[in-house]
Amino acid sequence: MNTEKKYKILVAEDNHINIQVAKYMLAKVSTVLDFVMDGQSAVDQFINNSYDIILMDMKMPVLDGIEATKAIRDIEASRNSKTRIPIIAMTANSACEKAADCEKAGMDGFLSKPFNTDDLLRVIKTIEQDRLQQ
Ligand SMILES: [Mg+2]
Repeated sequence: MNTEKKYKILVAEDNHINIQVAKYMLAKVSTVLDFVMDGQSAVDQFINNSYDIILMDMKMPVLDGIEATKAIRDIEASRNSKTRIPIIAMTANSACEKAADCEKAGMDGFLSKPFNTDDLLRVIKTIEQDRLQQ
């Protein structure tokens, strides 16, 4: 898989072990790699930075993944933004709990934890292809 393309990535994740794993794993596909530990901080980081992708844990304090995603989509709408940042949900089990809720909240893809770099690149590619077809 092509790993030459590098991304500015924001990871919202409240579990320390998952953060360490993501740091190690995403280093090779990122130029910027920022971490926050709750949904509100993800929204704040989104407002003040320009990322290519957000990886969003579902269960986090303050705002959970769904609430944070909704807030980000509202901000994009209020900015009349023509681009829509890809938000990928990180779920604890493969039978993607509440998949419909995630989609409704404006998430673009899913990764089941634990995932590897190839899994991530596959999801990114799917999102990019979907957008090309629109
Ligand atoms: Mg969590």
